Amino acid sequence: MPDSDVLVVGAGPAGSVAAWEAKRAAPELDVVLLERDPTVGVPVRCAEGVGDAGLREFVDPDGAPWVARRITRIIFVAPDDTEVRVADGTVAWILDRTRFDSFLAERARAVGVEVRVATEAAGMERDGDGRWRVRVRGPRGEEVWRARVVIGADGVEAMVGRWAGLDTRVPARDMESCAQYVLQNVDFDPDAIYLQFGDRIAPGGYAWLFPKGVAIANVGLGIVALRADGRNAREYLDAWIARRYPGGTTVGSTVGGVIVNPTIKQTYGDGVMVAGDAAHMVNPLSGAGIVNAMKAGRLGGRTAAAAIREGDTSARRLSSYHRAWMDLLGEEHRTHYRIKQALDELDDGFFNGLARTANRIPERKRSLGRIFAHALVRHPQLIPVAARCFV
Ligand SMILES: Cc1cc2nc3c(=O)[nH]c(=O)nc-3n(C[C@H](O)[C@H](O)[C@H](O)COP(=O)(O)OP(=O)(O)OC[C@H]3O[C@@H](n4cnc5c(N)ncnc54)[C@H](O)[C@@H]3O)c2cc1C
Repeated sequence: MPDSDVLVVGAGPAGSVAAWEAKRAAPELDVVLLERDPTVGVPVRCAEGVGDAGLREFVDPDGAPWVARRITRIIFVAPDDTEVRVADGTVAWILDRTRFDSFLAERARAVGVEVRVATEAAGMERDGDGRWRVRVRGPRGEEVWRARVVIGADGVEAMVGRWAGLDTRVPARDMESCAQYVLQNVDFDPDAIYLQFGDRIAPGGYAWLFPKGVAIANVGLGIVALRADGRNAREYLDAWIARRYPGGTTVGSTVGGVIVNPTIKQTYGDGVMVAGDAAHMVNPLSGAGIVNAMKAGRLGGRTAAAAIREGDTSARRLSSYHRAWMDLLGEEHRTHYRIKQALDELDDGFFNGLARTANRIPERKRSLGRIFAHALVRHPQLIPVAARCFV
C-alpha cells in the first residue's frame, strides 16, 4: 500500500498551493497531489479575474505567461445601463487559468511533490493506526493510499469533507448557477471589467464581462435559481448578450456553481482539513475564490507540515488551521454575507438611483468607499442595511 505524509485531493489553486507549502515547510515529507482531470487547469470553469494585491502575495504577474490582461478600471452597470467608472491604476488581472493552474502544480512538482493526474480519490476511511486510507482510481487501476493528513481541495463537489464527516451542505439560496461564453468581436474598454446588477438580468447574482484581450472577453453571469423566473443561467445570459453584445461570436462556453455561503463551521477533523471552494471560502459578496483558495491552501499546507513534525495530527491540533483562516478572512466573509443578504432586499430602482448619485462624484475621486459614504447620505434607506452588516 503506497504511503504518503500529506495527500492533497484536487490540483486547483487551493490544492497546488497546499502541496507546495507543505513540501517547502518540511522537505522530508512525502507529499502527493491528486488531480481527477487528465490535464491540470482543463476545463476552465471561471471568469479568471483576480485582485492585484492578493495575487502578488503568491506570484509576480508582471510579464507572466499565465496572465491574459491587466485591468485598471471597474465599470459598474446599473440595471438601467447607467455606467459608473471606478479606480485607476492596476486593480486586477485576468488570468489564463489553464496556464495558471498548471504553473502552480508544476511549481509544486519542482520542489518534490508527486503530482498524479487522471487520478481520482473515490472514498476514504480511518484505519487502526490513526491514518487515512484513501481509495484512488487512476491509470494504474485502483489503489489504496495511506496518509497521515489528507487535504480536501476538491472544489464545489467537496467529497473529502463529506467522507470525513464534515458538514459541507449548501442552502439552495446560497448556490449560484453560472453560465459563461468566451465572446469575440465585441466592443468594450479592454482595460476594464464590467459588472451589471439587476433582477431581470441576473437575480441573486450579477453579470460580468472580463476582457481576455482586445475584443475578446469572458462574458457570463450567476443567478440563484430560487429567485429566477423559471429560466436557467444560460437563458439569462443569452438574453443579456443579445441586448448588450449582439454582434459577438461565441468561441467557448462553460457552466459551473459558486457557493456564496460563509466558511463551513468546521474545516478540519482527525488527520484532515478542507480548503478553498470545498470549505466555502469564496467571498460571498463577489463570488471570487481563486486567491482565497490559495490563502487557505497556504495555511493548510503549513499546518499539515508542522503537525506531522510534531507527531500530532489530531483534530485538536489541526483546529489551529480553522482559527487562522477565520482570523484571516472567514470572519470578514460573514460580514460580506450579511451585506449580500441586505443588498438582496433592495430593488433595481435603488441601484439605478445609487449609480446616478455615484456619478456626481468626480471620476478621479470615485472610490468604492466614497460611493458607499455618498450612498448613506443620499439614500437613507441604506443606513439600516449598513448597520445590520456590522453588528
Ligand atoms: C463561472 C465561474 C466564474 C468564476 N469566476 C471567478 C473569478 O473571476 N475570480 C475568482 O477569484 N473566482 C472565480 N470563480 C470561483 C473560482 O473558480 C473558485 O473559487 C476557485 O477555482 C477555487 O479553487 P479550488 O482550488 O478551491 O477549487 P477548484 O479550482 O475547483 O479545483 C478543484 C480541483 O479538484 C479536482 N477534483 C475534484 N474532485 C476530485 C477527486 N475526487 N479526486 C481528484 N481530484 C478532484 C477538480 O478536478 C479540480 O481540478 C468562478 C467560478 C465559476 C463557476
